[in-house]
Amino acid sequence: MVNGIKTLFNLGTVAYLSISLTSCQGGMNTRAANAPQDTTEFAERVEEVKNTDPVRNGMLTKRWRDPIHIPTDTLHPISKDSVNKLLKLERRRIKDSVRLALDKFPKHIYLTFDDGPLLGSAAIDSISKAKNIKINVFLVGKHAHMSKGLKRDFQRYYNNPLVECYNHSYTHANNKFTTFYSNPISAFDDFEKNEVDLNLKHKIIRLPGRNIWIYNDVRRIDLQSGASTADMLYTNGYRIFGWDVEWKIHGLTGKPIQSVNEIYTRLKNYMNNKSSMEPNNVVLLMHDDMFQNRKGQYLLSTLIDTIQANTDYKFEFMQDYPFRY
Ligand SMILES: [Zn+2]
Repeated sequence: MVNGIKTLFNLGTVAYLSISLTSCQGGMNTRAANAPQDTTEFAERVEEVKNTDPVRNGMLTKRWRDPIHIPTDTLHPISKDSVNKLLKLERRRIKDSVRLALDKFPKHIYLTFDDGPLLGSAAIDSISKAKNIKINVFLVGKHAHMSKGLKRDFQRYYNNPLVECYNHSYTHANNKFTTFYSNPISAFDDFEKNEVDLNLKHKIIRLPGRNIWIYNDVRRIDLQSGASTADMLYTNGYRIFGWDVEWKIHGLTGKPIQSVNEIYTRLKNYMNNKSSMEPNNVVLLMHDDMFQNRKGQYLLSTLIDTIQANTDYKFEFMQDYPFRY
């Protein structure tokens, strides 16, 4: 929303500047007399700016991804070594300039928690409220039926406007991933069952045990087992999201496998180097059961505080992924 407003504001500013210049060329007194024409002109200018506005068309993201071509001179061919050297230089030049341009735009971070509701979910819910940040949970319906307490924790997530609930399958593949994905139709049904059971509002999925992304013009598969299920889900209107960075903590002891500082540095490197799936967007994977111990909860709070104190990253919902510039 804020991003949208900012975009409109920028559009308005550029459009206004263009019109001011046109008006000056046309003479000061013609403005009032030509009011209706100005309105049409204004609309045309807005269209023109919109079409060249990188915020809208993802021009920088495209430049970042596109391969680099060097026109070949067939009359004066140069050695393969020289071509490679030129390519390397050109690639670095473009990457540096696009990285600088992208750094001027907002940066977005997505905290995602998998496998809830589990012990730990209630604490995650409270932390999102205490810090007033948006978070994303990929839920497993079966877990909500394991106890009254977990059903209540699911309801807390569901009723918290700072939490968006997404689909992580009903059974979590019973943790037998290859078997689960070997039958894409029954796997598909398992996701549908979860959607109905939890009354999920968004068609957004993360596959258990797989880091697979299929959305818009992107299709990235980590393991072939899972690809058919993912394709079937995408064809039926779902978007499938993986993750860029994973944080691990021992749930029972709260002992981190990566310290807050390590994970914070990793997130920052992904953001700065544009090495995430989408430049200026970084998705962090965690699991609900990591935060059942007070030590783990303290680490999560500390990570959020560190991000808020040292960066201007915006905490976002996966529903809005990706912001392309
Ligand atoms: Zn999972």
